[in-house]
Amino acid sequence: ASLVLRATDVSVAYEGRRPTRAVREVSLELHAGEVLGIAGESGCGKSTLAYALTRMLRPPAVQTGGTIEYVDRDGRTWDLTALEPGELRKLRWAEFSMVFQSAMNALNPVTSVGAQFDDIFRTHRPEMDRAERRERARRLLEMVGIDPKRVRSFPHELSGGMRQRVVIALALALEPRLVVMDEPTTALDVLVQREILDEISRLRAELGFAVIFITHDLGLLLEISDSLAVMYAGQFVEYAPARRIAEEAQHPYTQGLLRSFPSLRGGRRDLRGIPGNPPDLRQDLDGCPFAPRCEHAFDRCRTEAPQLLAAPGYWPFSCHLRDVPNGSEPRKVEVDERA
Ligand code: SF4
Ligand code: MG
Repeated sequence: ASLVLRATDVSVAYEGRRPTRAVREVSLELHAGEVLGIAGESGCGKSTLAYALTRMLRPPAVQTGGTIEYVDRDGRTWDLTALEPGELRKLRWAEFSMVFQSAMNALNPVTSVGAQFDDIFRTHRPEMDRAERRERARRLLEMVGIDPKRVRSFPHELSGGMRQRVVIALALALEPRLVVMDEPTTALDVLVQREILDEISRLRAELGFAVIFITHDLGLLLEISDSLAVMYAGQFVEYAPARRIAEEAQHPYTQGLLRSFPSLRGGRRDLRGIPGNPPDLRQDLDGCPFAPRCEHAFDRCRTEAPQLLAAPGYWPFSCHLRDVPNGSEPRKVEVDERA
């Protein structure tokens, strides 16, 4: 499939007396119709990355490095980091759109649902008249399972689930090639969450857009993603086909996440979390950022940062165990048997 998005070494910092390096040299690639899941605990930089990829960072967050290339439906490549605000406005909604966790923040509380569709159409489809805009809004609402009469409703008159559906309908209004979704269902109860996820899958199959889906819920991502990136301390620590991660995750952090989250479908997992906390991103990180929490950590982990590299027959992951021959993994607690 054709390339939609390529990010290379993207870094983001929150400026301040001690800058927080929230995203550190993240690279990714997304093709037409693909779902890329990005998983990680809260504070790992995944939302910041989403904002960077869609050029929505606001001070004090600044992109401090890297390039973001977007390929539009005509095959033209745009350097998103170098776009003028006017060009960016043209691409947003029409080429790529966003769905964030809080539907209430995404919707204008003082205008009707119909008026919010009108705003998008008036900017991007000036040739549409009022009747056409209204008709298209009604069809989009129907598409996400909402009574089209709701065009006249105001956000506060809708349930949380309905509001999130409206946000999804708005994101799809101009049939973009890419939709970035950051925790789109996290605020909803499990049943509504399930309905909306099914809706997203159906729409994606129908319309063929690519998705970057961000959540702390690895179980959910394993179910819906084609490829999956696991983020820790602002970095991708494992990046692989989702199916392979489910079977044989390589990074100890991914393995820990797999043990600690329940899956939406199927049995609950044992919910023991990973003990300890992520590092303070205002500091320089010596060695592997996961070392203080890693049950496999050995000497080298404390002094040398592992690189995100593939092992033969595997995919990129950042862990020194990659270089350790199978079966001879050094342990944190070394017992000298001859002593
Ligand atoms: Fe654990 Fe060392 Fe691998 Fe880091 S590099 S994940 S500390 S084994
Ligand atoms: Mg977040």
